[in-house]
Amino acid sequence: MDIHFLKLAIEEARKSLSQDGYNVGAVIIKEGRIISKAFSGEDSEECHAEELAIKKCHENISGATIYVTMEPCDFRRSGKKSCCDQIIESGIHRIVYGVLDPDTFVPCHGIEKLKEAELELFHLKSLEKECKELTPSLPFYKVGFE
Ligand SMILES: [Zn+2]
Repeated sequence: MDIHFLKLAIEEARKSLSQDGYNVGAVIIKEGRIISKAFSGEDSEECHAEELAIKKCHENISGATIYVTMEPCDFRRSGKKSCCDQIIESGIHRIVYGVLDPDTFVPCHGIEKLKEAELELFHLKSLEKECKELTPSLPFYKVGFE
């Protein structure tokens, strides 16, 4: 099921392909049901897919899983709360992601942060290539930890 839901997140991300930079999609699943989905820039240029997906939930998402095409941010230049903080506070307990953030604009330590908060993480590598292709303008050089 992980592949199926991450593919849905990729479909979401494709909706934001007309913009530059980050094209990210997010889907939140609870007990096998889609309870929310969103893409970056969906309601404003500044909005991130994960934060909007959380905002759009109309039910308790404690214990849910978020599928996101790219590692969630842990710092925002705009001063807004990072997606990692929002995910941690929401009660989501598992994150499935397609590719690590390429550190283009700000260094990203999202995965470390989520791991520290003891969330369950899964890098779904079989869809990594498709997730990278969503943001063709970004250089993907980051390698290393899982
Ligand atoms: Zn973010």
